[in-house]
Amino acid sequence: MTVTELLSYEDALAAYDPVMGLEVHVELGTRTKMFCGCSTALGAEPNSQVCPTCLGLPGSLPVVNETGVESAVKIGLALNCSIAEWCRFARKNYFYPDMPKNFQTSQYDEPIAYDGYLDVQLEDGEVFRVQIERAHMEEDTGKSTHVGGATGRIHGASHSLLDYNRAGIPLIEIVTKPIEGAGDRAPEVARAYVAELRELIKALGVSEARMEMGQMRCDVNLSLRPRGEQKFGTRSETKNVNSLRSVERAARFEIQRHAAVLTSGGTIVQETRHFHEEDGSTTSGRIKEEAEDYRYFPEPDLVPVAPSREWVEELRAGLPELPRLRRKRLQEEWGIADHEMQSVLNAGALDLILATIAEGADSAAARKWWMGELARHANESGAELAAVPITPAQVARVAALVAAGDLNDKLARQVIEGVLAGEGGPDEVVDRRGLKVVSDEGALGKAVDDAIAANAAVADRIRGGNLAAAGALIGAVMKATRGQADAKRVRELVLEKLGVQG
Ligand SMILES: [Zn+2]
Repeated sequence: MTVTELLSYEDALAAYDPVMGLEVHVELGTRTKMFCGCSTALGAEPNSQVCPTCLGLPGSLPVVNETGVESAVKIGLALNCSIAEWCRFARKNYFYPDMPKNFQTSQYDEPIAYDGYLDVQLEDGEVFRVQIERAHMEEDTGKSTHVGGATGRIHGASHSLLDYNRAGIPLIEIVTKPIEGAGDRAPEVARAYVAELRELIKALGVSEARMEMGQMRCDVNLSLRPRGEQKFGTRSETKNVNSLRSVERAARFEIQRHAAVLTSGGTIVQETRHFHEEDGSTTSGRIKEEAEDYRYFPEPDLVPVAPSREWVEELRAGLPELPRLRRKRLQEEWGIADHEMQSVLNAGALDLILATIAEGADSAAARKWWMGELARHANESGAELAAVPITPAQVARVAALVAAGDLNDKLARQVIEGVLAGEGGPDEVVDRRGLKVVSDEGALGKAVDDAIAANAAVADRIRGGNLAAAGALIGAVMKATRGQADAKRVRELVLEKLGVQG
């Protein structure tokens, strides 16, 4: 494999202006496929969820899934799009084994939703508006597995296996207008856009939008033009990028690659490219077909889709609170700054914090544990925060024990450590490790007396008015109680017993 020449990111941006286009495919969470009654459940035996319609057998007739159309309209409305009063499906003709019908039922010049926008917030709080060209309905293809080769790709394989369970599962493709003016922040905008879109899709309840499961995937189109030029350069299309981080890396890599080619006097080939997770690079795929290669024509077996205005308005009225507004509201309710909310989002902690609050914790405590102890644990173990082995209910229980005075922060951290180590729930860890704030005044009083007796000189200094010296006695008591005393109460007792006013 030849090493791809790259220009430094700074040099690339000094000479060129990036223009991006993002195409996101979202697999809808409908129970059945888009044009037949086959189940969409994951994990079934290959080719067990197929019928004559999704296999494209002669004589079979498709029927549109109403929930699929409803989901498409909801997505369109949430993206501030106009909803078509009348639109048709079209056949996108191509021959490939994963498409048993030899065409994909899609939409071409009559998408169900068009001309919208999505506002996305960048890390520094700036809001960037991404214009939406269209959102249209189509169906997924089957899945091919290439066997016998070293790489799992078709080259070198001895044979391929096909599973058509996925063929016909509803997809919504959301296409942006060219994203201009992002400059050196183009990769960040791409990532923020896909992140915001994912939140939106989840909030609408139309898909779980899990990128790692392929339920949402992004094609990153990118071209460069010399600074000051209006005309777009030739674009490349990096296909099926399936994580937020990868979207950002793919855009960045293509900016540097295009710039290297252009600077050395070369020309960019319009082609699809594969993204490689391991090193963030892309490699050449196939020369990109033009629309005419697909010989689109209106699907004759399906009636046009004509959502009534009443129904569209009903769906609009039923839209949930959209993620950006919800975040704004929560931020106000919690009384936190922009950058604090941003860290919560970056850490993937929002849903966890909300779930912890729902289990009875107050917002400050919920944020504190997830953003502190647990975020640190996630970082150290290289895991997502959501994968840390503790539940919101358990975090809420720890917060409740602290609020009740049964645990101080230091002990609470030990309880969390125990839960993460698999020692059981918070109460079990408390019992097993014997972690409880010593609240028995008699025991605590004795520990204070012992500390004073053992540190007579320090006690004298405190009696003489040196209150700062109390720290040494408090430390001694905390040590004697293995950190299980309430430090504030210890301080009160020390001063009281020495007859000094705090
Ligand atoms: Zn079917």
